[in-house]
Amino acid sequence: MKPVKYISTRSRQEPIPASQAILKGISADGGLYVPDRIPVLDRSLIELSHMSYQETAYEVMKLFFSDFTEDELKDCIAKAYDDKFDRPDIAPLKKAGAAYYLELFHGATSAFKDMALSILPHLLVLSAQKNQVKDEIVILTATSGDTGKAALAGFAGTKGTRIIVFYPKNGVSTIQEKQMLTQKGDNTYVVGIHGNFDDAQTGVKKIFGDKELAAHMESKGFRFSSANSINIGRLIPQIVYYVYAYGKLLAEGAIADKDPINVAVPTGNFGNILAAFYARQMGLPIDKLICASNENKVLYDFLATGSYDRKRAFILTSSPSMDILISSNLERLIYYLTGGDPEQNQSFMKELSQDGVYHISAGMRSGLKDFYGNYATETETAATIKDIYEATGYVIDTHTAVAACVYEKYAASTNDRKPTVIASTASPFKFGRSVLGAIDHSGSTLGDFELLDQLARLSQTAVPAAIAELKTAPVLHKKECEVDEMKQTVTDFLGI
Ligand SMILES: *Cc1c(COP(=O)(O)O)cnc(C)c1O
Repeated sequence: MKPVKYISTRSRQEPIPASQAILKGISADGGLYVPDRIPVLDRSLIELSHMSYQETAYEVMKLFFSDFTEDELKDCIAKAYDDKFDRPDIAPLKKAGAAYYLELFHGATSAFKDMALSILPHLLVLSAQKNQVKDEIVILTATSGDTGKAALAGFAGTKGTRIIVFYPKNGVSTIQEKQMLTQKGDNTYVVGIHGNFDDAQTGVKKIFGDKELAAHMESKGFRFSSANSINIGRLIPQIVYYVYAYGKLLAEGAIADKDPINVAVPTGNFGNILAAFYARQMGLPIDKLICASNENKVLYDFLATGSYDRKRAFILTSSPSMDILISSNLERLIYYLTGGDPEQNQSFMKELSQDGVYHISAGMRSGLKDFYGNYATETETAATIKDIYEATGYVIDTHTAVAACVYEKYAASTNDRKPTVIASTASPFKFGRSVLGAIDHSGSTLGDFELLDQLARLSQTAVPAAIAELKTAPVLHKKECEVDEMKQTVTDFLGI
């Protein structure tokens, strides 16, 4: 079988190897890279069920990152999934009530972004070496809260790289903001913008597309890359934990070989659920992909009607990492729905940027039958946290609760009782105020850190060290800017 290469979702070009796609992040035509075919798992599910997280990671990544040697990949995996994670099994699976929670928050920043961002810097540095790139790599990232810190933690101190993170000044939780503002490392830079996440993301995309700036950067020995979930160096590592979760269910005897399962994912930029889609295409027996939204329910509306319409009010919710109206990774699914037609995909994306809306055909909609979409209101999200806590003692965060609520809606409306894995994307301590507020109101007068102790007592789990130490950590970043000053901010930081 010929090695997997990468093509753009927006125009027909010569396929490029994985290392180049990782380096570029986004294609020059504005499209996202997709593999030119989706490889099939070449180990049996039974074999996979005996593997550690790291071994599973190798089995998945070797199929996609075909221009990396076995030693290179294994080295990246070993460096990424080490004792930065507070659990040796990296992503534990916990049963509570009717569902299985895949805890993806045991890394350095207590949210699922660590799963991919602990390996991306290693893949990127190696990709630069492979392609004789001598420039310093500048990672430019817009964050709705969790990506920023996870990227900062991943890249801080990584030689040959600098990282600049833009976040919506009033759109992230206190803990998320403190996590970013206390980031150490001379190569890190954090900026609060006066706008929302979509403004930050659009601003970053504009900077990436600025050819004049790119030429100026190059003359000074810099080049941009992206740590956002559009980079295949982030997307592919996220496939791993779905394969691993299936293996765990099999090893525990919760399912038999080849039994189908469902997956429920709290969705924002559509990266996590797209990884589950890829896992399914690779042969993992996933039946339904349950796409859960918060009140910013643009994806629910899309799945229900075939119209993607971002022209609506942006709502700040208690699950801020899902407060998104332009789900970037959906473009990859749209591309597949067109049957791999970049021109057609390109015209949808043009409509989205010009008119804020596009409509897919009935034929394309039939390709969405494996997805189920629904959403949870703020009241439902809080009630779900409380109900699960009261029924099982298990405490989940607000994002995970959105997925748990939507899963319950799905199970009630379909009577489908297949084992279901809910992607548990953040530690409840990261969103402690909302979580505690949902369970009881005793914490409402407490400070942001005091209430975590209360939550620890309730959940009978310890406050993660990465969050506990924030209390006394000094703030190292104070920069704020207007949306239209983002480019200037970048050139100032680089001194060019
Ligand atoms: C980023 C994030 C999400 C959304 O994931 P996408 O891949 O953007 O869909 C959900 N929950 C948490 C806690 C996150 O950090």
